[in-house]
Amino acid sequence: MKVSKYLRGSGRFLAFVFVASVLWLLFDMAALRLSIADVNGQLMKELVLKDRELAKRLNAVPTNVRNYPVHLVNLHVETSQRSEMFSRRVVEVYRRKKPDRIKGEDKVAQKSSGNILSVTLPKAVAGNDSKVLVDTKSLEQKGILEMLNAPSYKIAPGVGANVKKEVLRKTKAPFAGQEGNSLKLQSNATKDHQIPPKIPLQDFKIPQDVVLSNKSNSTVKKVKPDASNNIPPTQSPKQEHSIQKVDKRKSAVKDNKTVSLPVKAVVQVTAKLAQSPLNASKIQTGALLNSTGVRKQGGLHKVMALDVTLKPRDARALGQFGWAALVPPDDEEESMRRWSEGYFNVFLSEQIPVDRAIPDTRPPGCSQKLVHDNLPTTSVIFCFVDEVWSTLLRSVHSVLNRSPPHLLKEILLVDDCSTKDYLKDKLDAYMSQFPKVRIIRLKERHGLIRARLAGAAEAKDALLSTKALIYLLSDVLTFLDSHVECNVGWLEPLLDRVYLDRRKVVCPVIEVINDKDISYVMVDNFQKGIFKWPLVFGWSTLSNDFIRKNNIKVSDPIRCPVMAGGLFSIDRKYFYELGTYDPGLDVWGGENMEISFKIWMCGGEIEIIPCSRVGHIFRGENPYKFPKDRQKTVERNLARVAEVWLDEYKEIFYGHGYLNLLNTNFIDIGNLTAQIQLRKKLQCKSFKWYLENIYPELEAPLLKAEGLVFNVGNRKCLVQENGFLSFAMCNLSKQSQHFGYSWVRTLRQNNTCVSPNVTGRGVALEPCDNSKAHLRWLHKSNKFLAEHLIAEAHHQRLCLEAGSKGDTIFLKACDASSSYQQWHFTHYYAQ
Ligand code: UDP
Ligand code: MN
Repeated sequence: MKVSKYLRGSGRFLAFVFVASVLWLLFDMAALRLSIADVNGQLMKELVLKDRELAKRLNAVPTNVRNYPVHLVNLHVETSQRSEMFSRRVVEVYRRKKPDRIKGEDKVAQKSSGNILSVTLPKAVAGNDSKVLVDTKSLEQKGILEMLNAPSYKIAPGVGANVKKEVLRKTKAPFAGQEGNSLKLQSNATKDHQIPPKIPLQDFKIPQDVVLSNKSNSTVKKVKPDASNNIPPTQSPKQEHSIQKVDKRKSAVKDNKTVSLPVKAVVQVTAKLAQSPLNASKIQTGALLNSTGVRKQGGLHKVMALDVTLKPRDARALGQFGWAALVPPDDEEESMRRWSEGYFNVFLSEQIPVDRAIPDTRPPGCSQKLVHDNLPTTSVIFCFVDEVWSTLLRSVHSVLNRSPPHLLKEILLVDDCSTKDYLKDKLDAYMSQFPKVRIIRLKERHGLIRARLAGAAEAKDALLSTKALIYLLSDVLTFLDSHVECNVGWLEPLLDRVYLDRRKVVCPVIEVINDKDISYVMVDNFQKGIFKWPLVFGWSTLSNDFIRKNNIKVSDPIRCPVMAGGLFSIDRKYFYELGTYDPGLDVWGGENMEISFKIWMCGGEIEIIPCSRVGHIFRGENPYKFPKDRQKTVERNLARVAEVWLDEYKEIFYGHGYLNLLNTNFIDIGNLTAQIQLRKKLQCKSFKWYLENIYPELEAPLLKAEGLVFNVGNRKCLVQENGFLSFAMCNLSKQSQHFGYSWVRTLRQNNTCVSPNVTGRGVALEPCDNSKAHLRWLHKSNKFLAEHLIAEAHHQRLCLEAGSKGDTIFLKACDASSSYQQWHFTHYYAQ
């Protein structure tokens, strides 16, 4: 009754309006919800389409990029592996977009309160002490806060196993001025420079189901493939496989426990972390060598596969993915003209992105390897003189893009007094965007060796000038050439070996960036650095027998008698304990020999780490000037090395074409006192020990020939007694009949040398002195006078002759037919 009273007249009207409004409101809200869901769905769809498109492009071989034909070289991948690579990439795309999908403990969470920033680090990095408080004021002062907004870094599972074994190429371009004939660069190029991919493109399958996380409620949705995208709607076994892979990778990320590390935040906190106790739950390594500098235990994690270039900015760019690029005919002239700027294809290099992606060429097993949690940090030192802009930048980007930020303390660019303008202000400006990059300018040209020392000193000075910031100092120095590309996962395997034993000096596998087409070319495995006489660096493949007997895996470190020299990591303190490089070495050359001998003979080791790969452009010529003659500079450096480190074996070095270096009038190799003292101080072992223990394969006979010296004419043997020469019946047991024919071509018994009388025809005995050219005899060096002993420095061609009665010895004009001028040693060790 009461209600009907209200529903009368205007009350009825009002009630109607009220009910209508409520209904309208409800209707509207429902519509809004629908449209939000719609937009969400549409967005999602777009994302999927975008990423599929991206993935498609990643898998496509670019052709006709800027009208250049581009080819897939050397990295042909099995179809099934290819689709696995594909699915990985798609997942990577989403990881990047939605890092919150990764479990809380794996993220770097940031919370700020006043000046104090709380940074939660991945467990693998932080151990138990994963929350660290950092004073933001100090971060701000060092420009570090801005880094908290820096792009995040991701873990990508390695794709090393994707590379077919048979495409591993035996490739090595020799260092300029060094022997390199053992290995030749191979190319797949056909006549018209077409290098077709081995796998038909239509075989690259795109997975249909992509696992996506929904940001709002964290549930996982499966997005159906879009028919318009030309993706078959049915799910093949292969596709199932790819979904499985996604799941596996999810757990792989969990294991790795390191994702999205804003660069500088981590740099700041690792020092504190280093003091934190190791997580007891972590895997412990077994007992290791029990000697100083050797770690005994440590938590482990799977090697990080950080690679910012996994999603390249422009997948169709020239040279992307390390593929070969070709110069179009119209530009050939320009390309040739610019060749000498760097002695490689500077023209092409300039058009290739400075942050291009390259293939993961690590051998199988590397991406699964465990490394220690508390790895030392490193300074990367690039010395350069007149380096080409594009290659210098690519070198730096490759380090920034593929190094775990918390392990990379800084990149030092040491400008060895370059003359090019672009390496001055323009370089400063470019590098100013990277807080980790510092440029050091040398006021005068020092050469590679002293420039590296300047770089190392700079890294050291950081310690002295910033005592309060001791943690800013790197533990390891990593030297790299300025035309390299560091590959995924390159750094941790190196640092891990140094962590195990700081006396290990470690080198990545040096791969080849082809000088002509700038492609990234994988090199053969099982290569070690060696040298041949006269101290010429080269590569040698481990024998199958050796590999089998020692059960060597392709990813195992390889001990090397010498390092190539361009790329290596060394414990900073150990580098100084070893006395660094001999600072008396000039410009370039021989320094790799010097540091190699020093390392081995003074208690260290040199290893190549196959899981660490760095590409390098090998050039036929040095693009910079040598202040003095190039050859003389290298020879002088080698002579210094021989004098300090080779002991009695130095004669073998000089005997291989360097007798002129013994002539002090010809060359001044400088003062060696400090180097000799250093060797004594360090109590380094002998070169004999080095040869016997580290490089037993090297043939290093101390004499070219030795034993009795038999005269064919009088059929007697030469005797030296009481300062006189005579002949006697040959008797091997008589020491007085034992002589040696040395590498420096002296005929000697102990320290007494048979000397041709320079002016007359007589023969004398005098103390041996390798610098005296008149003591030299040629033997087995002349086709017609092979058995003769020719007085080398005599102005006439005179030969050593025995008197027919066997009581005299003298010089006489050489006569090929005279048997009295023919001499035989009991043993010959070298021709
Ligand atoms: N370099 C230098 N100063 C020199 C000579 C060379 O800084 O006087 C640098 C050069 O720019 C390069 C590195 O040292 O980054 C090694 O030189 P190069 O690449 O010519 O040696 P290679 O690889 O041929 O052994
Ligand atoms: Mn180089």
